[in-house]
Amino acid sequence: MSHFMTQTETLHIVGGGMAGSEAAWQAANMGVKVVIHEMRPKVETFAHQTGNLGEMVCSNSFRSDDDEQNAVGLLHWEMRAANGLIMQTAEEHRLPAGGALAVDREPFAESITAKLKAHPNVSVSYEEITSLPTEGHWIFATGPLTSTQLGQAIQSETGAEALAFFDAIAPIVYADSIDMSQAWMQSRYDKGETEEERTAYLNCPMTKEQHEAFIDALLAADKTEFHEGETAGYFDGCLPIEVMAERGRETLRHGPMKPVGLTNPHQPDEKPYAVVQLRRDNALGTLFNIVGFQTKMKYGAQTDVFRMIPGLEDAKFARLGGIHRNTFLNSPTLLDAQMRLKSRPNIRFAGQITGVEGYVESAAMGLLAGRMAAAEILGKTLETVPQDSAMGALIHHITGGAEAKTFQPMNVNFGLFQPVEGLKGGRRGRKDRYKAYTDRAKAAWSTWLEQFS
Ligand SMILES: Cc1cc2nc3c(=O)[nH]c(=O)nc-3n(C[C@H](O)[C@H](O)[C@H](O)COP(=O)(O)OP(=O)(O)OC[C@H]3O[C@@H](n4cnc5c(N)ncnc54)[C@H](O)[C@@H]3O)c2cc1C
Repeated sequence: MSHFMTQTETLHIVGGGMAGSEAAWQAANMGVKVVIHEMRPKVETFAHQTGNLGEMVCSNSFRSDDDEQNAVGLLHWEMRAANGLIMQTAEEHRLPAGGALAVDREPFAESITAKLKAHPNVSVSYEEITSLPTEGHWIFATGPLTSTQLGQAIQSETGAEALAFFDAIAPIVYADSIDMSQAWMQSRYDKGETEEERTAYLNCPMTKEQHEAFIDALLAADKTEFHEGETAGYFDGCLPIEVMAERGRETLRHGPMKPVGLTNPHQPDEKPYAVVQLRRDNALGTLFNIVGFQTKMKYGAQTDVFRMIPGLEDAKFARLGGIHRNTFLNSPTLLDAQMRLKSRPNIRFAGQITGVEGYVESAAMGLLAGRMAAAEILGKTLETVPQDSAMGALIHHITGGAEAKTFQPMNVNFGLFQPVEGLKGGRRGRKDRYKAYTDRAKAAWSTWLEQFS
């Protein structure tokens, strides 16, 4: 093989975090030479503490390990079935944590680093990459704290609108947990060309008393503080709701909770004093986000406060709100189904920068990107990742299923799964439904993996 061939056939992975480490492991095990380019410890981030690969920046938990009733646990199962480095190493450094998979973080990251360095197909180059190369096979897995210069280079390729530097996440609710005897579907002033557009929003009405109690609770709720230096420039156009409420008790009623242009069909003669609106968050219509309700309230406080909203008393949240420093792409518009940048197919993205959220989800997207890139180098055609698997539900969401206009980072959850026909909806049927999702997912994922054996 010529020197030139060796160069172009190598897979370059930028960032050796959760996603980059997993991608490298998967590709290397398929027989592809991999170089991991990691900027730490030369260049640091505000959250990482070491120069190790696979460092967990905050909590030491990979969340639920229940692969029958929990979507994260299912993702664990799927990664284990694919010989995932992160899961295998987590198991070796597991700490007692009830149903969760928690690990001893330092030995965990040291072990990830040692295993990758010992792999005959992997080498590590400690350097910051600051541009998007035009040649060769690349995976960028630089995470929520992508270095500034690289962030600028990505932005000049994608356009300013398509790369965010922080997330402003409004809570997302499972559609089937909303009480439709109180809520109704209607767009303000019935705007829209089609019936679907005229009924695009789900509305929850409030009386004056309910509104006053809601504002009191919002003001009193426990909030999370920002990290130092984290807030700069964040707040243009997306203030946390509690900050809006602090500016005046009526501010929200003139903003996201405006009661205008809406008629409550359950009580047509009574004008609501305020209205909370929810909007579809995925093409399946199983998830709705609470419009304009980005927040820094602590998670426990959020569920208490949001369940005061009429219609959301029994709401089940697919994810709660938050605002963080987070570099992420508008993947539904920028990436193809194999996580390649449409405008530059020699570049893939993986991990949190693709708009998933969390260690597990990031590692999962690294696993897929590593296998896809290696298959491409080896001249193999891969079958589409089955949408019924947790891996497939997640990649499908970020590369097409999510609403591009309001795209915000997503955790894996059962709301991303296609419904299983013939099962009971609502709370009662939940246990059977989740078991049906996970059984179906395991079968689909196992079949997908067979093409590698
Ligand atoms: C403060 C904070 C707290 C978090 N807490 C949690 C939590 O408790 N639980 C959870 O599940 N998730 C948490 N997350 C999200 C977490 O970051 C991700 O879940 C996960 O680490 C992302 O994996 P990743 O591989 O995409 O990015 P990372 O794990 O961050 O890896 C990216 C790697 O790329 C490197 N890099 C960046 N730019 C360059 C460059 N230009 N050249 C070379 N290397 C580069 C970085 O040094 C880093 O090693 C947190 C995130 C932040 C920022």
